[in-house]
Amino acid sequence: MPRIDSHVHAFPDRLALAVRAALEAAGPLEGSPLLPAVAERVREAGFDGAWILPYAHRDGVAASVNEWSAAEVPRYPWLVPGATFHPADEALPALVHRALVELGLRVVKLHCSVGSFSPKDPRLAPLWETASETGAPIVIHAGQKGFGDTAADELEDLPPVLEAYPRLRIVLAHSGHPATRRTLELMERFPNLHADLTPVWDRPVDLDAAGLDRFPGRFLFGSDAPNSPLAPATLEDRLTTLGVSHETRASIMGGAASEMVP
Ligand SMILES: [Zn+2]
Repeated sequence: MPRIDSHVHAFPDRLALAVRAALEAAGPLEGSPLLPAVAERVREAGFDGAWILPYAHRDGVAASVNEWSAAEVPRYPWLVPGATFHPADEALPALVHRALVELGLRVVKLHCSVGSFSPKDPRLAPLWETASETGAPIVIHAGQKGFGDTAADELEDLPPVLEAYPRLRIVLAHSGHPATRRTLELMERFPNLHADLTPVWDRPVDLDAAGLDRFPGRFLFGSDAPNSPLAPATLEDRLTTLGVSHETRASIMGGAASEMVP
């Protein structure tokens, strides 16, 4: 079974350094945030691959970030290049078509807290439509209130999208931590809802083995590298401590991600 880190961040150099500087207000981070170092660390951490998730903090950024992703990330063949969008982007339908169809970017990241928007924003409809067709999963960091946290009521913005686009696969970043009970309820209702186990800064996602065993193939490992104070090995050890089954662990550590993006 391949080992995939499905939540890794990389950006064009200037943006990568700006994101790093902003996050270091919360505490020190190790290693360069630039793409060559990020790519190397994926291998050093023992992964066969990673999803690279750049994100747009405002409108007008996505077009150049997506061009960068398509040009630079494939230099490292073990990485899956991602796209990003902001609902206020000009000519969003054309931008989506360019990224997902012409450039063939295979995964999308939407950062609602950094970009201050909701997934139920009607301007995102062209993204849901095109991603349903190309099969690109959409990793959504939901919630706009706290430092990376998602409130249970903010998860209510997802059902309208999951219902309207049954072929669309949404990966809820951080499993909606700390509102994880609500996440499990939504996963029960919507088979197209997946979730990643990326910590929120230094706080691991609040889920136990029973919760993780309940949805085979739908939980994904994520480290938030290079912008996490926790090493991937620490996060993986936690699965052992929780006592998840061997099968669930293999799926989390890469089986599920490699099925979603072969
Ligand atoms: Zn992240």
